[in-house]
Amino acid sequence: MFEKILIANRGEIALRIHRACREMGIKTVAVHSTADAEAMHVRLADESVCIGPPSARDSYLSKAAILSAATITHADAIHPGYGFLSENADFAEMVVDHGFAFIGPSPKHIRLMGDKITAKQAALDAGLPCVPGSAGAVETEEEAQRLATEFGYPVLFKATAGGGGRGMKVATSDDDLLEAYRTARTEALAAFGNGEVYMEKYLQNPRHIEVQVLGDTHGGAVHLGERDCSLQRKHQKVLEEARSPALNDEARERIGEIARKAVENLGYYNAGTMEFLYENGEFYFIEMNTRLQVEHPVTEMITGLDLVREQIRIASGAPLGYSQKDIRFEGHAIECRVNAEDPETFAPSPGRVTDFHQPGGMGVRVDSGLYQGVMVPPHYDSMVAKLIVHGANRNECLMRLRRALDEFVIEGIKTTLPLHRKLVRTQTFIDGSYDIRWLENHVTD
Ligand code: ADP
Repeated sequence: MFEKILIANRGEIALRIHRACREMGIKTVAVHSTADAEAMHVRLADESVCIGPPSARDSYLSKAAILSAATITHADAIHPGYGFLSENADFAEMVVDHGFAFIGPSPKHIRLMGDKITAKQAALDAGLPCVPGSAGAVETEEEAQRLATEFGYPVLFKATAGGGGRGMKVATSDDDLLEAYRTARTEALAAFGNGEVYMEKYLQNPRHIEVQVLGDTHGGAVHLGERDCSLQRKHQKVLEEARSPALNDEARERIGEIARKAVENLGYYNAGTMEFLYENGEFYFIEMNTRLQVEHPVTEMITGLDLVREQIRIASGAPLGYSQKDIRFEGHAIECRVNAEDPETFAPSPGRVTDFHQPGGMGVRVDSGLYQGVMVPPHYDSMVAKLIVHGANRNECLMRLRRALDEFVIEGIKTTLPLHRKLVRTQTFIDGSYDIRWLENHVTD
């Protein structure tokens, strides 16, 4: 087992990884930009190294600075968290070349799944059902027209190199097809440095259902059930729950087993998530995330497994030590992402936290690096806390979540807590009958 792990991230996820390491008796090294010198993950780590100025490009995204920090602190392994370098295959390769273990999948799998076209092909080969779409990049306007006629409107252009919900354009008829195609290409080039786009049939009212998987380096593979992440704003997840209120046992077992089998077929190891759209009883694979997800705690709450601990064990070469039949699901869990944003306009709201009180009590977990007096810098993602609540069933979970949201105090900056308080009292949410468009159309216009 590793003796010291460098955590190449910041905020709540750096803290989350630190906690798992501590419980496993592993020392931690925090890295931070000058803007994060007083951050909680830095304060709690055994050692810390300043790796650059506030700009993420020169700090949390600097491969050289992170590898130097690992070298001088004699770390054995690097955990990338999510975002930043977590899905950068070159970085994973460099980590291994420098003699450290990378706590994640192989660079080969990161690369395969990082390009949406190769990912879809690999998914089809591994037996996953996919959204009907172009076999590769759409190279010309004529091809775009031909494919749109073949699939039928509406269609969606997606950046091959896309991520974070960016680089997507819908076309509803011949009239706006070419404009959507051109804008998608221009935006993809600007956002990802790669203008390649492909086409998918645009599903009208699907749910976003994803399956958490784990694989070890000995061929072991399990799925840890599904999460429903249909509550989205601008294709970004706002609230997630496990299990999905939309699936019956037959559907959840079917998709779980398909995902588990795909892990075996791909020879994939470490944690991963297969994302699907679900409409009219059918699942359509959209992408695989080759890292820990923001919403992993809802899976932890219903399975009792510590996913970061499992990631570390797998990266050290240990076998899973359990098989699918040993995985038990208990109760219901919901996570609210709390962002430092105006709850009406969603404008970022960085600044100093003047008061902070987090809810507690049975079944309540808060993952956050906030504390009274901390400065929320403007340079990074606006998510500052996750409130995760577990209950024996969805109803108990909802009652507890309402209570916990009412207790939560974050002053000095604006947050999306009021949005969540409203959401958990909205009938469609209570009924669990929402789809991926509902939040934008009904709660946040
Ligand atoms: P990203 O990598 O940018 O997150 P995804 O492929 O995961 O992109 O898609 C993000 C979100 O966009 C999905 O959760 C869904 O809301 C929407 N989306 C993606 N593909 C489709 C599609 N074919 N039809 C309808 N909505 C889609």
